[in-house]
Formats: sequence, C-alpha cells, structure tokens
Amino acid sequence: MSDTFDLVVIGAGPGGYVAAIRGAQLGMKTAIIEKEPTLGGTCLNWGCIPSKALLDSSEHYHMANTKFQTHGIDVKDIKLNFKQMMARKNDVVDNTTKGIEFLMDKNKIKVLKGLGRFKDANTLEVVNGKKVETVTTKNVMIATGSEVTPLPPVPFDGKRVIGSNEAVNLDKVPKHMVIIGAGVIGVELGSVYARLGAKVTFVEFMDGLIPTMDKELGKHLKRALKHYDMDYHFKTKVTGAKVSKNDVTVIAENKKGEEVTIKGDVCLVAIGRRPYTEGLGLENIGVAVDDRGRIPINDHFQTSVPNVYAIGDVVAGPMLAHKASEEGAVCAEIMAGQKGHLNYLTIPGVVYTWPEVAAVGYTEEQLKEQGRAYKKGSFPFKASGRARASEESDGFVKVLSDTETDEILGVHMIGPRAADMISEALVAMEYRASAEDIGMMVHPHPTFSEAVKEAALGATADRAIHI
Ligand code: FAD
Ligand code: NAD
Repeated sequence: MSDTFDLVVIGAGPGGYVAAIRGAQLGMKTAIIEKEPTLGGTCLNWGCIPSKALLDSSEHYHMANTKFQTHGIDVKDIKLNFKQMMARKNDVVDNTTKGIEFLMDKNKIKVLKGLGRFKDANTLEVVNGKKVETVTTKNVMIATGSEVTPLPPVPFDGKRVIGSNEAVNLDKVPKHMVIIGAGVIGVELGSVYARLGAKVTFVEFMDGLIPTMDKELGKHLKRALKHYDMDYHFKTKVTGAKVSKNDVTVIAENKKGEEVTIKGDVCLVAIGRRPYTEGLGLENIGVAVDDRGRIPINDHFQTSVPNVYAIGDVVAGPMLAHKASEEGAVCAEIMAGQKGHLNYLTIPGVVYTWPEVAAVGYTEEQLKEQGRAYKKGSFPFKASGRARASEESDGFVKVLSDTETDEILGVHMIGPRAADMISEALVAMEYRASAEDIGMMVHPHPTFSEAVKEAALGATADRAIHI
C-alpha cells in the first residue's frame, strides 16, 4: 500500500526544504523527495555555502598577505594549506546539510531518497536504483532547481573544462584559470582562485563585469579587483576550445572580429544555469516547459495542472536561494488557503567578492529605459570614518529616488559588508519609504551603514554631511 500525503515536495534545495517546513507548520502531512544523497540542493552542496566558505578562507589568506602589515601585524612565512581550506569547506557543507536532515525530522517531514517522477497528478514514484516506491498526494510542489548551462563549443570534461560544481572541489590551485562568463559565479570563484595565486582571465560576451547589475557597480568592481592578476576580454565570443593533457586553449572572437586564443590549465564555464526537469515525467501530467526550459506557473505558483505547483530556479525569475525559499513558503501558505504575497522588486542581489556588491530595486539603466525621473545620492566609503578605521574604504552607496515623491526606487552598493547592509534598503523599499525617511533616521556611529544614510540624504536634496 502506498503512503498518502497532503503535500509532496520534489527537490530538497532551499526552495523545496523551506516549502516542506512551511507546509508541515501549517498542518499538512508532508514528504520531500531528493535524488542526491544529501539534502540542501545546489545551494548547500555546490553553490552558496561552499563558495562562501572558500571566499571567506581565501580572503583571510589574501588579507594576511596584503593588509596585516598595515595594521601593524607582522606575520612571516604565510603558507597556503589548500587541502585544509577544502577540508574546512567540506565540514561546513556537511554540517549544513545535516542540519536540514534535523529540520525534516523535527517537523515530521518524511524524506524519500530517490528520483521523483509523476505517474499522474496525484501519484509519484520514487526511484532509487532498482527500488520503486509509490506515494499518493493531494498536492505536489516541484522544486527541482537548475543545473549548469553547457557551452556547446567548449564541452565539459570535468578536468580541464569544468563547471561550478567542480570549481568548488578542485584539488589544487590552478596556475591560470580561464573563466567564460563574468557574471556572479565568474567573479566570485575567480576571486577565490586569484586570491590564492592563480592568474584569472575572463572571456565575457557583454561589455563588463556583472553586466546585469547597475553599470556603475561592475565598473567599480573591476577597479577594486585590479590588485589581482586578472585579465579581461569583453564583448568577446567563444568559438571553441582545444584540450590537451595539461592545458586547455580557449578560442574566441573579439569585437573587431579577430581571433583570440587563451591558454590556461583550467577553463571554468560560468555562463548561467538552466532549469532542471529531467526524469520528472512532466509529460505524464501534460505540463510543458517554455522555450527556456522553465515550468510556466500562474500568480499562485500553479502549473497548468491545478494541484501541481512549481517554485525556485525551475520557474521564471532570478535564480537565487532566497527567492526560491520565499516562493516555497508563500506557495505552501497559498495551498493552505492563506493570502501569500511576494514582492519581486525587493528581492536583493548580492555578489560576495571583496568589496561586496549588493543591490535592490531598479538600476539607473532600467529607470532611464522606463523614462522615469529620478534623483541620485552617492556616498563613497572613503568619506566614512568607520571604513577608514577598518582600512576598507573602497566603494560607495548609491540611492535612487523618485524626483517627485522621493520614494526609493533602487539602492546599489559596493563596499565592506554590503551584503548585510542591503537589508536596510530592502526594508525601506518594502515599506515604500522615501530617501528622506532613511536620511532622518539616526544611524549608529561609527558604522558602515552611515554611508546608506548619507547617500539617502544626497538623494533627498544634496544634503549629505560628510562630502
Ligand atoms: P536547487 O537548490 O537546485 O535544488 C533542487 C534539488 O532538487 C536538488 O537537490 C536536486 O538534486 C533535486 N532534484 C531535481 N530533480 C529531482 C527529482 N526528479 N527527484 C528528486 N530530486 C530532484 N544563490 C544565492 O541566493 N546566494 C548565493 O550566494 C548563491 N551562490 C551560488 C553559488 C554557486 C556556485 C551556484 C552554482 C549557485 C549559487 N546560488 C546562490 C544560486 C542558488 O544555489 C540557487 O538559486 C538555489 O539553490 C535554487 O534553489 P532551488 O531549491 O530552486 O533548487
Ligand atoms: P550569470 O547569469 O550571473 O552570468 C553569466 C555571464 O555569462 C553573463 O555575464 C553573460 O553575459 C555571460 N555569457 C553568457 N553566455 C556567454 C558566452 N557564450 N560567452 C561569454 N560569456 C557569456 O550566471 P552565473 O554566473 O553562471 O550564475 C548562475 C546563477 O547562479 C545566476 O542566476 C546567479 O544568480 C546564481 N548565483 C548567485 C550567486 C549569489 O547570489 N551571490 C552566486 C553564484 C551564482
């Protein structure tokens, strides 16, 4: 006899496991299906967590080599123990994924290990080797996430041509890493290996780093990374690659139509991710994916089959863990008859380079495209006492507000701890605050967050105090 549930979630990434917890909290008898041996999905196993562990470790190493002396700390014979760095990262991943097992247990969520596939809209099979288990359910939530997008002229071989999964699991620091794509993964993992001594060369289709964010951020980030051994080929199209025993040569065409060849020992392809629905049996319930492989949904996360919902990287929108988690929670609330709501404008984006990059709301480019009149206040960290005291004065905060109403339309920052500071801006935007509202609030001194207040004062009426 098959087990029967109110909700079965397919995929235990940050979208799926949060949805399962929220469903259980709301009284649903819940199960979650995961095909990998550990829970947590891309984010915990190969994405957010391992990359941030390596970013932090490599930044410590870089600081010890470049900044400690300025602080009056003389350290001799600094040595990289890459094996230990990776071992620490593995421990962090291990503890974090085990934490999800604990949360499933605590919330009485049944974990079914295996590939989940639809038999019909209320019946799922869980395939684990030769074992096939059948479960029935009232509702299904698809949270199967995404996978690395391959680049056909440069096929992966897992050794010389790799994706991000391999890049967070290397056994030695490459001498020269060629990175195709200078988006979030490119600049984050490029920073890790550049700090550890690799030369890094970017080949990017567009005209700068992190090209989908506000243009000023990418420009400043390139300047901020100038102390690393980094090279850039922008507006350049990759046409092929030649792999030999010890190296890989990437062949590309630059904006003038000339051939460019770049030889490295590893090539990381980081040109984006694509939705993952392989083996799910969507055809058995009559759900078709769109031209980009995404599952189409309505405002309530419902697919064309009303009791089958989808959230996270497998649907449209930014491919971010916090977006997936929030959609999962809201979707479970809607299933339970509540009025779930998610404001996509206030989903922040963060790039964990150092300095960090963080943004919420509209970019200047988007506002210009909309023809919307806006004011701009910008405050550099070099004018911040706290930033100078910390030897971290690279970067700025920019606040954009509506010319007429002063409502904050976007906040973009690059600088120390920007990843955490952006939350002030998103709370303000969620409550539709004006720039003056932030400008009038007393911020603690000395903190990096005073730069947000100063930029807001600048947007209000050119009232910044310290510039
Ligand atoms: P996923 O995390 O991809 O989880 C989907 C799960 O479903 C997987 O475990 C998969 O095995 C399982 N699955 C798929 N099909 C089936 C099936 N048929 N049956 C059973 N199980 C199935 N985002 C951030 O917000 N911040 C970051 O700092 C960040 N850093 C990143 C760094 C890297 C290197 C990468 C690659 C990504 C990063 N991301 C980051 C993006 C983030 O990882 C994703 O947006 C997030 O994981 C999406 O969550 P999800 O639950 O939709 O899917
Ligand atoms: P991305 O979309 O951020 O960047 C891909 C880059 O590759 C773009 O700049 C694009 O112009 C370029 N590109 C595309 N095709 C190309 C080609 N043929 N040749 C050269 N360049 C090409 O994607 P990503 O960096 O692979 O990251 C994947 C996803 O993971 C993103 O959606 C991102 O949101 C998420 N992620 C988030 C974080 C974070 O939140 N800190 C970190 C890592 C990844």
